[in-house]
Amino acid sequence: MAKGEDIFKKIIAHCKEYGFIFPSSEIYDGLSAVYDYGQNGAELKNNIKDYWWRSMVQYHENIVGLDSAIFMHPTVWKASGHLEAFNDPLIDNKDSKKRYRADVLIEDHLAKLEEKIEKEVSKAAKKFGDSFDDKMFRETNPRVQANQAKIDEIKSRFVPALENEKLDELRQLIEDLGIACPVSGSRNWTDVRQFNLMFSTQMGSASDGASKIYLRPETAQGIFVNYLNVQKTGRKKLPFGIAQIGKAFRNEIVARQFIFRMREFEQMEMQFFVRPGQEKEWFEYWKEERMRWHLALGIPEEMFRVHTHDKLAHYANAAVDIEFKFPFGFKELEGVHSRTDFDLGAHQKFSGKKLQYFDPETEESYVPYVVETSIGLDRTFLAILTHAYKEETLEDGSERVVMNIPPALAPVKIAVLPLVKKDGLPEKGREIFDRLKYDFHCQYEDKDAIGRRYRRQDATGTPYCITIDHQTLEDNTVTIRERDSMKQERIPTEKIAGVVAARTDLRPKH
Ligand code: ATP
Repeated sequence: MAKGEDIFKKIIAHCKEYGFIFPSSEIYDGLSAVYDYGQNGAELKNNIKDYWWRSMVQYHENIVGLDSAIFMHPTVWKASGHLEAFNDPLIDNKDSKKRYRADVLIEDHLAKLEEKIEKEVSKAAKKFGDSFDDKMFRETNPRVQANQAKIDEIKSRFVPALENEKLDELRQLIEDLGIACPVSGSRNWTDVRQFNLMFSTQMGSASDGASKIYLRPETAQGIFVNYLNVQKTGRKKLPFGIAQIGKAFRNEIVARQFIFRMREFEQMEMQFFVRPGQEKEWFEYWKEERMRWHLALGIPEEMFRVHTHDKLAHYANAAVDIEFKFPFGFKELEGVHSRTDFDLGAHQKFSGKKLQYFDPETEESYVPYVVETSIGLDRTFLAILTHAYKEETLEDGSERVVMNIPPALAPVKIAVLPLVKKDGLPEKGREIFDRLKYDFHCQYEDKDAIGRRYRRQDATGTPYCITIDHQTLEDNTVTIRERDSMKQERIPTEKIAGVVAARTDLRPKH
């Protein structure tokens, strides 16, 4: 098993064991690609949401929040293009009976060729050291050149086939590239078919004249249909943004990789309305701003990659993905899209209501352009979790699993641990706990040996453990233990809050 896969399996098991994530309806053997967040998962998820909401809504004077309903008028999805075009091309392997996304099979093939190039480059970089010229090497090395030529040739067929929905050509490409089913190893494929990803249900009882409605596949449309409500009631001037966090639903063809691709998930989206012609500038701004947000968490830059789209969605005139290095490779975490006036224009047309802005500076009315930032909450959770998981061998030879979750996002900030369960230490512990609990999410624990309690807190990522011992009763000092370094320090109880606050402050560092 590849190292990444091996670690990933351990992380999934760890998530269950320590109350981060459980399979949905587990006692009934689960529901495919649906998960529940446990006691620690719910805290981490709330902290991520809080961090995002504050950096969008609280720290930007010109962004406001919204909480729109999951159900929307069915015409919304006609206008947005989801009824017509929210399809994935699927293909089945006749031997394994496994179903795949045809585009993903080809993208995986491309990723393998790119990996070969990167291996070649990093081998040469090691060999030549400081004198290595990356650009020149890529342009002259014959093996890199040959693989690059293959990539270019595949893309020259793949991109137009996807854009024009040429399903036969996708099928032909899979055949020409000799792509085999990872399960059966065979190349015995069906034709490629389109599959709409929206879930539908009925609203109203049948005798009522029930109508078919959809579970929203993205939160963005709730923002577009409320654009005018917010602009008018908030007396907003362009440019301004509307942010929203909420559930989205997609009937994904292949649901794999734990919470990376779920059928019910959560998005954190922000639509930024700008004057037409200024969208490229704002697109660049948000691309950089969003990268800063990720990096402010202290995750190293090399874990992220910006991928510019080869194929633009029907509504976009520029788009990038911020990708994260998950244990299974670089994959999309967030999209930044310049959506033009497509959505507001379409809603204006389908609803017959004007969705225009009167610009007092130019004295013109127009449909604003939109730059969107769209990030998956669950994928952010997974990125933070997979990066945080560390197996360490300590100096005394013992082992620990520690979750280096950014302290500001950790589910529990402080564990209050009386050394023994007697001599008045639990009472003193309770007193400290009761003082800290209004400012920090704390946990009180007095069972088991102190070493075991430290391990448990390490495994859930608690940045600070406070130990109460007999000396505490005498001089009101405690031991504070820091998760990553395991360093212990004796401090007066009144200093605990200050030490912890300094490291768990949610304020982004920019
Ligand atoms: P992908 O190509 O991986 O299917 P997408 O390009 O369809 O993603 P968008 O429509 O741009 O994704 O959605 C914005 C964000 O929502 C994504 O960057 C991702 O973080 C998240 N997201 C999308 N689909 C899922 C899913 N099925 N499960 C979890 N998160 C998702």
